[in-house]
Amino acid sequence: MNQSETQPPSPSLATVHETSLAADGWLGRYVAVADQRQVLDATVADTYLAWVKERQDPGRWDGEHIGKWLEAAALVWRRGRSPQLLAQMDAVADQLIALQDADGYLGSYREDLRFHKIDWNAQPIGMAARFDLWCHLMILNGLLDHHEAAGRPSSLASAAKAADLVLRTFGDGRQDIMRVMHNRGQGPLTAILPMARLYGLTGDQRYADFCGYCIRQFGRPHTLPIRMVDDPAAAAADVLVYEPDRQEDDGVKKCELELTMRGLLELYRHTGEKRLLATSSAVFNRLYQPILPTLAVCGYLLGPEITDPVIHHNPLVETCDIPPALRWWGEAFRQTGEARFLAALERSLYNQLLAHHRPEGGHIGFDARAPADRQGGTMRKQWRDDACNWRENCCLSMGALGLCWIPSAVAYAASDEVVIALYAAGTTTCRLGAAEVRITQETTYPVGGEVRLRLGLPRPLAFRLRLRIPEWAEGATVAIPGEAPARAVPGTLHAIARTWRPGDTLTLSLPMRIRCTPLPGPEKMTLVERGPLILAAPLRLNDGIGPESLRLPTRKGVSCTVQTPAAGDPAPTVFTLAVAGEGQASPRLRLTALSDAGVGGEGDPYRAVFPMAADF
Ligand SMILES: [Zn+2]
Repeated sequence: MNQSETQPPSPSLATVHETSLAADGWLGRYVAVADQRQVLDATVADTYLAWVKERQDPGRWDGEHIGKWLEAAALVWRRGRSPQLLAQMDAVADQLIALQDADGYLGSYREDLRFHKIDWNAQPIGMAARFDLWCHLMILNGLLDHHEAAGRPSSLASAAKAADLVLRTFGDGRQDIMRVMHNRGQGPLTAILPMARLYGLTGDQRYADFCGYCIRQFGRPHTLPIRMVDDPAAAAADVLVYEPDRQEDDGVKKCELELTMRGLLELYRHTGEKRLLATSSAVFNRLYQPILPTLAVCGYLLGPEITDPVIHHNPLVETCDIPPALRWWGEAFRQTGEARFLAALERSLYNQLLAHHRPEGGHIGFDARAPADRQGGTMRKQWRDDACNWRENCCLSMGALGLCWIPSAVAYAASDEVVIALYAAGTTTCRLGAAEVRITQETTYPVGGEVRLRLGLPRPLAFRLRLRIPEWAEGATVAIPGEAPARAVPGTLHAIARTWRPGDTLTLSLPMRIRCTPLPGPEKMTLVERGPLILAAPLRLNDGIGPESLRLPTRKGVSCTVQTPAAGDPAPTVFTLAVAGEGQASPRLRLTALSDAGVGGEGDPYRAVFPMAADF
């Protein structure tokens, strides 16, 4: 390739893992429960390991969970460096590695159903074997996380051995990886992520070559409907592949696509190949950016005007689809510096990931299916507890991984700057050169819009601090010591470069107005939002008000009073809306965050899309 096609990635920001969130904060309470119930509880890893040890999996995904447990445990360990957790991670990895066959196979499948024993070109295709490669890749990722966090060469060696089996099985002149019937090759293409990581860790060209082989499969008929931006067929500047006869199982499979896109960014980090970054951004622009307004309430079901033949019309958003998207967008921000990826991340985090979880019980649901009944505007969150049973729920370990990752999304750092990407009560610790910087956030965000950031420094230190100003925060200000509050522009990173002194405190004020976001479609429906939260009206909090008489904010203006429960009270925060000038006679609408609505299941109906007021 010529010089113009590659360039060293600009010095990218590093992820800061060391953020400890207050356990009674909005995000912190979810993280605390996930840490405890999904990672630190030793029976969880033991159960996942036992599923691999049986090695009799007849077509499920028993093996993937231990890989994701290792990923989640590595994140939790990086935050607090607990010796007990390190010992547990090491022991789990050692037990896992002891199960690896001489040929490198490390999975849960029955001998005759293992991915490398199947003739994928034969008819009928080996459907019962289709998830084995995926599970093998998830374990590979987990071992790499263990190695990267804890510096364990044995885990790296085992991951490389597992990867080599994939390289011996698939590729030019070997088996065709797109014949693996996990969503017609879309699952197997996620191999790009661990292979790119291995390339970064070992410098071994064959891992990069295998990524290249995978990338050459993009856009093949009835497989992943995505082209690389430099594919000649993408001349129309559309990375989507249109095929009129697409079937449901060859539409975009979200979780797999998102892991693949993160793989492209990982490869970009090591090669500087610009088309990798450009393709990731183009897929975001084409498939995700347009549906961000409705992301949480309509799943990925597009409105009638933007109907897309590629995405099958399924409003289901599996929990598995969410953490890979969030982590892809976090990486996209790290590589591009574009704040819009953080906006998407925050929106999906508060309104999708948290909505799939009941922190009081530690449950992680399969989906928060939201078939927004546009006419009535009522949605029900289906917790599908039957599908939450350990073994059948593919989402359990991915949901936990997403929740345990939240603190790693709060801040980023380079040698001379810190970016605060999410606001949450807690403390972030990072190193700028030799100096340790501690940034403590005091805030009730997202209930309150004021964030006080206190800087703990060993001595006066010159660096640039950048604060994310959310898109919705019209009128935001930032006050720094000794200066009047300055206006900050929504949708940007507000940068302040100066010599900071120990104990310096900044105050960020984000106005928390009620906003309406009209949904596409002829029904004239809208979301009601405040800060990063989409709000919902549980019918049980709106006694005597039928769905049709629920009053909406109008252009006359609306007031909002907030009731937060006492510490330890599991009741949700309630936002009460009243239309200005209509007095007591006007019914008041009592709302909660979407993530707090419907937790009683089918018996707890709520509405999250509302008819627009006539004067809107
Ligand atoms: Zn799932």
